[in-house]
Amino acid sequence: MIDLNGKRALVTGGSRGIGAAIATALADAGADVAITYSGSADRAARVVKAIEAKGRKAVAIRADSADPAAVKRSVDETVGALGGLDILVNNAAIVHYNLIADISAREIDEMFAVNVRGPILAAQAAIPHLKAGGRIISIGSAGADRIVGEPGSVYYMTKSALQSFNRGLARELGPRDITVNLVQPGSTNTEMNPADGEAADFQRSLSPLGRFGEPADVAAAVVFLASPAARHITGTILNVDGGQMT
Ligand code: NAP
Repeated sequence: MIDLNGKRALVTGGSRGIGAAIATALADAGADVAITYSGSADRAARVVKAIEAKGRKAVAIRADSADPAAVKRSVDETVGALGGLDILVNNAAIVHYNLIADISAREIDEMFAVNVRGPILAAQAAIPHLKAGGRIISIGSAGADRIVGEPGSVYYMTKSALQSFNRGLARELGPRDITVNLVQPGSTNTEMNPADGEAADFQRSLSPLGRFGEPADVAAAVVFLASPAARHITGTILNVDGGQMT
């Protein structure tokens, strides 16, 4: 049984999908949790209510991951509301599906701002607060290792960037006994990639298990990496993809 009692976590993009499942699972393990969101105030409030119903502290912070000042503020507000920060989960991301031949500069910039610069700045703001045993866990994508649909190429590039970020930050923070890891989901049933979407059957065909993952599958990996049991795991990449990359 994983025990995160007394730990304080910040999950970016925690209002729905994988982020909401991570926030809830961390609370189930005993952590107090802050979440950020960009637009879904009502849904973020529902996640907070669900966590509070478990007897944990929770707070929702509207903070666009593309806005450096908002990212910094979200860490400061988390520390203020929860009394500190032990676990940062970089989950928020956006996707614009388009071929490299067609993608616009705006689409490229938006994805890199949220998916790459956001995690860097969130980590930068979190680092002064993290103590020995601290955790930074980012959510990449199995698509960083294998392009399974060309219109996703630039989105996958943003997720490949997290692999270097993960390795570099693991080296940077290792001497302080803070671990840094990357979880790469495969096809996971959310609004970003619904299990009944247009390309869903093709995605299922890539998995030996023949199915989509659920947000809780990714959350379980994050909770493990956040736990004391994972103290000797850092700089690693854990695919939660139903074998899609095998
Ligand atoms: P999702 O259903 O689209 O949810 C995205 C979450 O991120 C929402 O809470 C959203 O908040 C938040 N968000 C979006 N843009 C933001 C911004 N600019 N600032 C702050 N928060 C923002 O996505 P998901 O499928 O759960 O994906 C979660 C993570 O898993 C992402 O990193 C994604 O790349 C990765 N992933 C997903 C899959 C998959 O198949 N689903 C596969 C591989 C990797 P609002 O509700 O306010 O918009």
